[in-house]
Amino acid sequence: MNSLTIDAARSAIQERRTTAALLAEAFYDRIEKDDPQIGAYLTLSKERALAKAEEVDALAAKGEKLPPLGGVPVAIKDVMVTRGVRSTAGSKILGNYIPPYDCTAVARMEAAGAVVLGKTNCDEFAMGSSNENSAWRPVHNPRDLSRVPGGSSGGSAAAVAADMAVAALGSDTGGSIRQPASFCGVVGLMPTYGRVSRYGLIAFASSLDHIGPLTKTVKDAALVLRTIAGRDPMDSTSAEVPVPDYVAELEKPVRGLKLGVAKEYFGEGLDAEVRSSVEAAIQKLASLGCEVVPVSLPHTAYAIPTYYIVATAEASANLARFDGVRYGHRAGDARTLSEMYRRSRDEGFGAEVKRRIMLGTYALSAGYYDAYYLKAQRVRTLLTRDFEEAFKKADAIVTPTSPTAAFKLGDKVDDPLAMYLADIYTVTADLAGIPGISIPCGQTREKLPIGLQILGRHFDEATILRVAHAYEQAS
Ligand code: GLN
Repeated sequence: MNSLTIDAARSAIQERRTTAALLAEAFYDRIEKDDPQIGAYLTLSKERALAKAEEVDALAAKGEKLPPLGGVPVAIKDVMVTRGVRSTAGSKILGNYIPPYDCTAVARMEAAGAVVLGKTNCDEFAMGSSNENSAWRPVHNPRDLSRVPGGSSGGSAAAVAADMAVAALGSDTGGSIRQPASFCGVVGLMPTYGRVSRYGLIAFASSLDHIGPLTKTVKDAALVLRTIAGRDPMDSTSAEVPVPDYVAELEKPVRGLKLGVAKEYFGEGLDAEVRSSVEAAIQKLASLGCEVVPVSLPHTAYAIPTYYIVATAEASANLARFDGVRYGHRAGDARTLSEMYRRSRDEGFGAEVKRRIMLGTYALSAGYYDAYYLKAQRVRTLLTRDFEEAFKKADAIVTPTSPTAAFKLGDKVDDPLAMYLADIYTVTADLAGIPGISIPCGQTREKLPIGLQILGRHFDEATILRVAHAYEQAS
């Protein structure tokens, strides 16, 4: 029962072949058995899950039509707040935080019938690419326990890959949905900036943060996106753009669609096995009638420094609220207010978070603001224009998701710069605000999953889902 897709789970409950409660129990059994080795979950919300399951079962018993996610067991990255359920963002500073409200995306999932099993592990405040920055414990890749699951939504990706959830929500600021999806062999979709409300998402970098699904199939990603997308009065940056029926759009033919390939995404540092799998996937799409066209994204080389200035600058401002006063960890026996702030933050934040607060504070400080922050914002505009130009020629752009498959735990922990550089193919879409999806496209000789990334125009998730679906069905 654990490997069901959304529709299969929902119809099994609808047709009374099982119940939502039994299904949730089956997932909790699996979590109890397998999660000690994997570490995908930080907190289980069993009471809340079973209450929701009973509600869905009552509907099914009356023969009423279940909502689209009726009884479907899902997992939520711990950066999304959940009423009454501990939400730590992977940080000790929020180790005791029980939020009084729900993140909009989570509330919409539940309103559509989803059963929230629990909260998933992640890099602290979503800062990382390997999940090794979690303050609680690392996550192990279910496909090879000696390897990282990717990050920062590593717990969500691992939960779906290990059949410990049907679907999960993650967040993507610089690749954190797509890269772990690619490392764990699942589907990960980052919607357009503003497509999904950020209300109740613990902020990392507000102009770059996106919530989106991690699922087993492209259709499931479409179903979840349809559920969580759309304007929310609680987030003024959520867009007033109509939400199409992504599921209905999946079946439209891909013949004649123009797929852009940019040489900047196939350069130095790209692993040979990843390259050949991605090239084979592009060939496959061509054989389905897509036209492959060369595009140029000339500012790609500047994306990493630009991202790590904008993201850290925003993080340094966002994380100022964790001061031990209103919520979160407070250091004991401080003699003065400033000592209390200092010690609470010193004890509560991990090394990577501190590094970013310092980098961001520096980039924003008088005398350096123009040289770093302002310049980064200008380069961000150039990167966005690169995509605007490319999308005049192409309907979607296909790239590798990550230059390598999953690396070993511990391999990059002592080299933050090497970790940052591996985000090269994912940070660009966050900076430009365009949507991107990662889908499995084969594996390495060591049987590690490889991800194909498909990028689209602003608010055109429908096209990238359609291309992804066509590839998935054909392979
Ligand atoms: N790996 C990137 C970082 O460390 C992206 C993280 C994310 O998307 N949340 O910032």
